[in-house]
Amino acid sequence: MLKAIWSLVVPGLVGATLACGQAGLAQERTPDWSKVQIKVTKVSANIYMLEGQGGNIAASVGEDGIVIVDDQFAPLAEKIQAALKELKITDKPVRFVINTHYHGDHAGGNAPFSNAGSTLIAQDNVRRRLASGGTAGNGGSIKMETKPAEKAALPVITFGHDLTVHLNGEDIRALHFPAGHTDGDSIIFFPKNNVVHMGDDFVRYGFPFIDVASGGSVQGMIDAMEKATAQLPADVKVIPGHGALSNLDDVRAFTAMLKETSAAVQKALDEHKTLEQMKQAKILAPWSKWHGDFVNEDAFTETLYNSLTGHTGDFVKHN
Ligand SMILES: [Zn+2]
Repeated sequence: MLKAIWSLVVPGLVGATLACGQAGLAQERTPDWSKVQIKVTKVSANIYMLEGQGGNIAASVGEDGIVIVDDQFAPLAEKIQAALKELKITDKPVRFVINTHYHGDHAGGNAPFSNAGSTLIAQDNVRRRLASGGTAGNGGSIKMETKPAEKAALPVITFGHDLTVHLNGEDIRALHFPAGHTDGDSIIFFPKNNVVHMGDDFVRYGFPFIDVASGGSVQGMIDAMEKATAQLPADVKVIPGHGALSNLDDVRAFTAMLKETSAAVQKALDEHKTLEQMKQAKILAPWSKWHGDFVNEDAFTETLYNSLTGHTGDFVKHN
């Protein structure tokens, strides 16, 4: 279970050293790629959701070719391409890959897709962080080192605020929401199909991992969820970064939890409580149903504490 969770949600690329203080873990984990199967779900007229290992993939499949949002891990690229071909809608290749953010469980397949002829697209900070490598984490017990990515894995088209791909009769729009899960998150809108891929700004594994070491913050995540939901139709289909296909009620419940837990930690900060005191008082106990194997109450208390006290990276001020 723990192994599956790590390899599912841990952004620190395969082979990276993962350290999780409260669980006393510091080890390397590599999934058995040969056992991973790619499950394809039709979401809308020509949008599909692909699940394997790592973040969910959205695919626009049509007469112009294929656009995918995120690409999981490099060893799965051939399986992902085969699953898309198996739909028997087009023989055309994956023309574009859009990364929702730089973490290895979402952008790990960049190099093989690029080598197969796909054009990689991402927000400026995604390319910057892929190129540099560095430390990801919640500023506390969750910490992961990532190595600089090879050249083939770097997006060749980047954007600051937003970008639109006009393919398969749809204006597929990537919109940057700064300082949420990381500082390079994009939410991808498929307006004609009424589908949205929210990347790791919205996940279904419980308390979210917020990468404050890579410029993420809970305030930015709340902001992203509120701004995105305000411009979406009530019946939009939501592909989360991880977990099952969702709807706006699921996003609202997640956003409410973020706001309530942030308020609880802010109240404790106002009362001059230390992080240790907050953990000992179990101030997130009322939200224990959001407890996950990856981010438990203590790890999320750390995340909120670091986020609210400004232990975040550069804040890109737009949106
Ligand atoms: Zn992530």
